[in-house]
Amino acid sequence: MSSTTGQVIRCRAAVAWEAGKPLVMEEVEVAPPQKMEVRIKILYTSLCHTDVYFWEAKGQNPVFPRILGHEAGGIVESVGEEVTDLAPGDHVLPVFTGECKQCRHCKSEESNMCDLLRINTDRGVMIHDQKSRFSINGKPIFHFLGTSTFSEYTVVHVGCVAKINPLAPLDKVCVLSCGFSTGFGPTVNVAKPMKGSTVAVFGLGAVGLAAAEGARVSGASRIIGVDINSSRFEQAKKFGVTEFVNPKDHNKPVQEVIAEITDGGVDKSIECTGNINAMISAFECVHDGWGVAVLVGVPHKDSVFKTHPVNFLNEKTLKGTFFGNYKPCSDLPSVVEKYMNKELELEKFITHEVAFSEINKAFEYMLNGESLRCIIRMEE
Ligand code: NAD
Ligand code: ZN
Repeated sequence: MSSTTGQVIRCRAAVAWEAGKPLVMEEVEVAPPQKMEVRIKILYTSLCHTDVYFWEAKGQNPVFPRILGHEAGGIVESVGEEVTDLAPGDHVLPVFTGECKQCRHCKSEESNMCDLLRINTDRGVMIHDQKSRFSINGKPIFHFLGTSTFSEYTVVHVGCVAKINPLAPLDKVCVLSCGFSTGFGPTVNVAKPMKGSTVAVFGLGAVGLAAAEGARVSGASRIIGVDINSSRFEQAKKFGVTEFVNPKDHNKPVQEVIAEITDGGVDKSIECTGNINAMISAFECVHDGWGVAVLVGVPHKDSVFKTHPVNFLNEKTLKGTFFGNYKPCSDLPSVVEKYMNKELELEKFITHEVAFSEINKAFEYMLNGESLRCIIRMEE
């Protein structure tokens, strides 16, 4: 048992005091984990677009002061009451959504939408007692997505923690806890392209490139990348994208362009933009009879999906998925094993690295569109 078990830990955390203002490095107090919680020493964390959206708080409820961060890897420092699945020293990935293992969703083989621990972007406290485990001079600081990984230590519900192979390099596999799995899962778990098939990927950000990686490892022979930003194309080649279509280069709908170059449509398409028109195109560009489209992007709150019902009668299928249909605790360890067996390439997603004290640089890289993933090292 470590000397810190049951004690308040003082450590550094990057606190977002106000929307859109640089994070401030503070000394925070991190309370011990309570019932069904674990305290984790974070070693590496990375920045995802979702952190930026909630930091900007445009169109999101502002919850401040808050410790952001949800893509990370670390080691369990101590565990609270009734925790049997994890022990100090375990290597783990915290995840923004969870698995209680008791509800209808957790018991269903098909669903990962846990009733208890499903993502909640507005909650800034722990479920057990509706309190925060973080404070500065007694003033509570809110949690984010139940993970708050921009802190040297954090407290997480045990159902939002995946225990992984201790030999896995945490500075690489940390990206599996959000961005990579969000794109790769929709392809391999939901669209399931067969060897030799044709796949369209709409949006070539980190999520779309992970979707392309899923198509590559599934043996797709043509992977068509669709993006309105042509500068994304060069990088996408490294992720197995074989052809590019920029909707802006054509004076007809992109679904028609894709139908022409694929003899009627693609076998599968994955939408990773969040744009409603791209969602409609991603559906309409699949082949009659067997084509399947999977929506991943998070749409604007007022968006409405409009298509002619004959598309469904013509046997095109539309699906959507959340966190790639992965159950965080049960499924992520095997994705880590795929990386360990060299079936996945994560290195190409990691374009930048900074020390924790320079975390605001990671925001700049993302806002400038320079980075796919910037790893933030907690040890200087
Ligand atoms: P990103 O901004 O890096 O990439 C999105 C890409 O889409 C950009 O290159 C942009 O140019 C392109 N794009 C925008 N509109 C387009 C259009 N009409 N046609 C073609 N391309 C278009 O974003 P990201 O981090 O890769 O995330 C992609 C999406 O996935 C976002 O909507 C994000 O909110 C969502 N997401 C979903 C989940 C989930 O579980 N469903 C989880 C995390 C993120
Ligand atoms: Zn559940």
